[in-house]
Amino acid sequence: MKILNYINGKWENPVSGLFIDNIEPATGKKYGEIPDSDRADVDHAAQAAWKAFPAWSALPAGQRCDIMFKIADGIEQRLDEFAAAESRDNGKPVGLARVMDIPRAIENFKFFATAAVQFSSESHATGQDAINYTLRQPAGVAGCISPWNLPLYLFTWKIAPALASGCTVVAKPSELSPVTAFMLSEVCNAAGLPPGVLNIVHGLGHRAGQAIIEHPDIKTISFTGGTVTGKKISATAGPLFKKLSLELGGKNPNVIFADADMEKAVTTSVRSAFTNQGEICLCGSRIFIQRNVYESFRDAFIEKTRALKIGDPTQEENNLGALISAAHLEKVKGYVALALTEGGKILTGGQQVNPGGRCSEGYFYEPTVIEGLNDNCRINQEEIFGPVVTLIPFDTEEEVIRMANGTNYGLSATVWTENIGRGHRVAAALKCGIVWINCWLLRDLRTPFGGTNQSGVGREGGWEAMRFFTEAKNVCVKL
Ligand code: NAD
Repeated sequence: MKILNYINGKWENPVSGLFIDNIEPATGKKYGEIPDSDRADVDHAAQAAWKAFPAWSALPAGQRCDIMFKIADGIEQRLDEFAAAESRDNGKPVGLARVMDIPRAIENFKFFATAAVQFSSESHATGQDAINYTLRQPAGVAGCISPWNLPLYLFTWKIAPALASGCTVVAKPSELSPVTAFMLSEVCNAAGLPPGVLNIVHGLGHRAGQAIIEHPDIKTISFTGGTVTGKKISATAGPLFKKLSLELGGKNPNVIFADADMEKAVTTSVRSAFTNQGEICLCGSRIFIQRNVYESFRDAFIEKTRALKIGDPTQEENNLGALISAAHLEKVKGYVALALTEGGKILTGGQQVNPGGRCSEGYFYEPTVIEGLNDNCRINQEEIFGPVVTLIPFDTEEEVIRMANGTNYGLSATVWTENIGRGHRVAAALKCGIVWINCWLLRDLRTPFGGTNQSGVGREGGWEAMRFFTEAKNVCVKL
């Protein structure tokens, strides 16, 4: 399978003629090629996007809304095909792609299609004789760069609000999971999206991605990915005075108080630990458990973890598929080895898995639970982004808030308690952008989404995203 760049409504080879291999994580084998795009392709895409900008930004919002609904319908009509492609490209179970990734991509387009027609701005009467009103004008050409873990889900989470706001886009999916972005280009064409409004450039981060960040005509950048990459992007974009939204890594605490509904806390904590092989930025990887329920929670958690099935992601019965790449598998293995040297005890998991058959060279790893580590060790400070969690006992609310806040990250947190006052109190004290009380990953697309500290800068979602992709201009009129 050879995929191509999508520029100005056409599919194109990279200018260099170079391609890179696309590997199927479940088999460890090459199954396609993607463009190894560089500055020349990005420049071509930026030119197409600027050419399309005047007409797209001037189009009545209702017409942008109609086209975006058609894109949503186009994905929905091919839902099974999209889910199978996502599973093959990323290694995630096909059932998960069918109920989570692809429906959410559809929802992103529908949600922001309606945002396009409902977005409004403020006006301020200044005394009796002047009025201020704020114009929200599309920012121009937006650069949207996304990671591999939720490929179409996160790619469209950026593109949809950018298009709804009237921006045109140069977008790059991860080189590790590019196929559904390519399929999206087919859907956009069929839906009648005018040429140049969305341009998709495939390729490596340090080449194609970096060229987007550096391009003088792409001044608005929405990025989701790792903290180290975010730092590099900030260093490049800062001196160029670009507008930046950075959604980065996390090391999220999951706090279980003794008064929690234990059945719900255990079941959901297994989900928040291991969904998508633990490769979700919102997964709770540090599980803090109040000491008097530590053993009962731990034993129930381990029992449910052992019941998870891992194997070929095309098989519906499997709960976990393959990790994204050989390098990522090595990273996860390295962290588990480090946990042992730091004094950790593996309660379950800790081994690479060989499911056999077509998957015998795939990148599978057991869901792994570790205890006995202090909250300051590297395993509890650094993002692993795989199926590995630690269990840490605590005594008091103050102590757990201190430990939960004790990393450089600040993306999300989960709190389990039946004490309503405690729930609100702890939520307010946690230093992060999102707190779930007695649930996890319950999403309302109107809410602000993002992190603090090294988990990012800015917020996505709802009006936050519409504001990001527009510039505010205040007009003051003396009556
Ligand atoms: P990554 O930073 O390696 O890559 C992300 C994207 O950036 C890819 O498309 C990549 O090609 C591109 N890129 C790499 N170097 C670049 C550069 N110099 N300039 C421009 N683009 C560049 O991240 P990843 O490994 O793909 O994703 C995993 C990370 O993403 C984890 O840290 C995870 O926590 C984070 N993540 C965060 C969120 C969130 O909403 N906060 C969501 C999902 C994933």
